[in-house]
Amino acid sequence: MSIKYEPVIGLEVHIQLNTKTKMFCGCSNLANDNEPNSVVCPVCFGMPGTLPVTNKQAVFKTLLFARAVGAKISDNWNFERKNYFYPDLPKGYQITSSTNPPALGGEIRVAAGQDGGQFSVALHHLHLEEDAGKLLHGKGGYSFVDLNRCGTPLIEMVTEPVIKTPTEAKLMLKELQILVRHLGVSDADMEKGHMRCDANVSLRSVGEMKLGKKVEVKNLNSFRMVERALNHEISRQELLLEKGEEIVQETRGWDDAKGVTLSQRNKEDSQDYRYMPDPDLPPICRLIVEEFSDENLKKQMPELPQVISSRLQSDFSLTVTQANQCVGDINFQELVVGVLTKVTKDNETAKSLLFGDLLRIVNEKGLLFSDLKLTSDDLIEIVKLKDDGKITQQLIKTNLESLMTGKITIIDLKKHGEISTAVDIDAIVKEVLLQSIKAVEQYKAGDVKVLGFLVGQAMAKSKGVANPQIVNEKLKSHLDQ
Ligand code: ADP
Ligand code: ZN
Ligand code: MG
Repeated sequence: MSIKYEPVIGLEVHIQLNTKTKMFCGCSNLANDNEPNSVVCPVCFGMPGTLPVTNKQAVFKTLLFARAVGAKISDNWNFERKNYFYPDLPKGYQITSSTNPPALGGEIRVAAGQDGGQFSVALHHLHLEEDAGKLLHGKGGYSFVDLNRCGTPLIEMVTEPVIKTPTEAKLMLKELQILVRHLGVSDADMEKGHMRCDANVSLRSVGEMKLGKKVEVKNLNSFRMVERALNHEISRQELLLEKGEEIVQETRGWDDAKGVTLSQRNKEDSQDYRYMPDPDLPPICRLIVEEFSDENLKKQMPELPQVISSRLQSDFSLTVTQANQCVGDINFQELVVGVLTKVTKDNETAKSLLFGDLLRIVNEKGLLFSDLKLTSDDLIEIVKLKDDGKITQQLIKTNLESLMTGKITIIDLKKHGEISTAVDIDAIVKEVLLQSIKAVEQYKAGDVKVLGFLVGQAMAKSKGVANPQIVNEKLKSHLDQ
């Protein structure tokens, strides 16, 4: 990015609600993995003579989310029809609520931004709507339609144009994911389409207040794609402006394989949706529904992630990143709290075990903390064995995954520890010294750095099971003789 222009980003995020049934009918909302067109009914299709019925749970989840982000919840709002034709929308209109939405304003606070500091993204509004079906293009030149997703409830959250960088956009989405999962309103898996993002971006000269012409980039299905697509789009616009060309206000798609955005349609053919209040659905008068009252929303609101995060930081001296990792997964959080309440506050073995090896293996292997065979007591035991010098870091590293998946137990680990301390370190050390005459000479000449090399040799000879501290001490005592 040059110093001449600065980007301005605004996001429109669709969050799929994890209700039991769809937005306006009794069809299961777990339609994703089913046979195409098997989880549908006449209401999904908008057949003549059918009537939609508003899903109370979907409205409740929307309001709970609205309250959690500090939005102003409306007392009266209504559903409307957004009319357009597309093969994935048999009704010919989508039911939405953007004109008179359930909530206005609010913000997503991000605890740790690019520079480590906090930042906040102001929201324009959020509304509740139904999803359309899915088109599958390609097979033999045919297109297929799967209407299972028709009628799935979505929150659309629209931010103000206030995000300053692609990385901030990504961090905001991650924070949003943690929040909606924590509230239990959405599974929020971007790869599975539970959370979808359209990113709007424009450039303006530094110091200029007026916003530039924006481009909307559609269908970004991962955090990484959001960041990459925005970076690409910013460079593309910058190049045009440098050449003195105008930015065309348009919708572009992201081609992840090629790493470029491609024009899809521009403003000229933007449609007139003829929004109208839906005559089949009564307006929502919030104050006459007990579940939607401020008192009930307050009662149902869990402690928010950022509050938990600050508490963990101060209780256990965790970094912001560590605390946020706990907040993102309740099972991990319970494990961390279980361990750290029973060891001393500054126990680095425990922290590096939890936030280093354990987290790394879970992520690399795609494991779930809820499936782990290790309890907090087991982890405390491992920490104790390590701190007492009975097992080495290396031994933990090589056995942790087996412990996590239940292939071996702590008793096995202890046995491994006994074997490794029984390794004849003296013999190995002597052998290494005999084979590394040059390094020994260097050491004696004052180049003490070669000690690291010698330790490495000895560890390799012991196949990684010797205790490196003991190896180090023995080598040193020989060399310093
Ligand atoms: P539209 O009428 O095209 O839908 P909106 O004003 O409703 O545009 O805004 C849609 C999204 O685009 C919002 O997230 C908003 O923050 C963002 N946005 C609007 N104008 C700009 C701009 N000039 N640059 C970047 N983002 C913008
Ligand atoms: Zn249905
Ligand atoms: Mg708009």
